[in-house]
Amino acid sequence: MLLPPLRYLRPHTAGAAVAMLSETDGSVVLAGGQTLLNMLKLDLAQPAAVVDIHRIDALRGVRHTETGTLVIGAATTYAALAAARDARGTHPAVAEMAAGLVDRQVRNRGTIGGNCCLNDPTNNFPPLLVALGARFRVLGPDGERVLPADEFFVGSLATAVRRGELLVAIEIPPLPAGAVVAHEHLQVGADSWAVARAVVRLDVTDGVVDHARAVLGAVYGSPMRLPAVEQRLVGSPVTPDLSSAADALREEDVQTADDVHCSATYRREMAEVQLRRAIGSAVERNAQ
Ligand SMILES: Cc1cc2nc3c(=O)[nH]c(=O)nc-3n(C[C@H](O)[C@H](O)[C@H](O)COP(=O)(O)OP(=O)(O)OC[C@H]3O[C@@H](n4cnc5c(N)ncnc54)[C@H](O)[C@@H]3O)c2cc1C
Repeated sequence: MLLPPLRYLRPHTAGAAVAMLSETDGSVVLAGGQTLLNMLKLDLAQPAAVVDIHRIDALRGVRHTETGTLVIGAATTYAALAAARDARGTHPAVAEMAAGLVDRQVRNRGTIGGNCCLNDPTNNFPPLLVALGARFRVLGPDGERVLPADEFFVGSLATAVRRGELLVAIEIPPLPAGAVVAHEHLQVGADSWAVARAVVRLDVTDGVVDHARAVLGAVYGSPMRLPAVEQRLVGSPVTPDLSSAADALREEDVQTADDVHCSATYRREMAEVQLRRAIGSAVERNAQ
């Protein structure tokens, strides 16, 4: 299908991109285009102009700050992130997630910023970034705002990024020594979307969990933190029995819906299975 006629703008700095977004009515950011171009072709979006951020050097790349925070430019592709030594060294779960995403074509074009700004409930990165306590740097006409992940993802296909704003970078704080992160998901077909996803982060001191985050993806509009499960994990010894903390999922209000892939009941059950597996994987990683 052909693209509809629209204006194509290609700024070379983040500031120029923001100026174009606020000066050009009906303009949207074009990052990897892996979702946006399909939406345009299917007539699901009708912007007057696209602002292509692909060539803005400052929005690409992965580095550490002096305090050990991992900073990922919003227009960094999954392939670049998967290969980035900085990410692989301190936050291997992030590099792994990028390396395992769909296929080479999507990995070479799609960006972590696009993944987060889209906030499709089935997307890989939102639940992982909530588990890692990431912060999002958003530039707008009035300057920069920094939002914690819990505030950035606001609902299905919705984030706190306002019209005219640009996500410039994602910052992930350093993990303490002894932290392990694991994720598991169930997808419909080999290259398809997730039905249920779980991410578990355990900060372990002397064999005991002293801080935990458990997050579900693909069940609800936004990544869903699981306070009852986290409470059950904290204070527990890191042994194979820890997976039973997933039982506490029954105390959470997991809202989900029937869709073309499965019933809400099946999705809820699969979410529990993925959570149990993710806790098990985290325990195994801790033993390595
Ligand atoms: C066949 C196929 C299978 C896929 N499977 C998966 C999968 O299993 N898991 C998964 O996570 N993803 C999957 N995707 C989606 C893919 O990850 C996309 O790359 C991603 O959703 C969007 O990233 P993008 O860089 O391509 O963004 P684009 O498509 O360019 O943009 C997406 C949206 O985000 C906005 N946007 C992008 N960057 C910014 C920014 N910096 N600031 C403000 N707004 C911005 C755009 O305006 C647009 O609304 C799949 C895609 C395809 C084509």
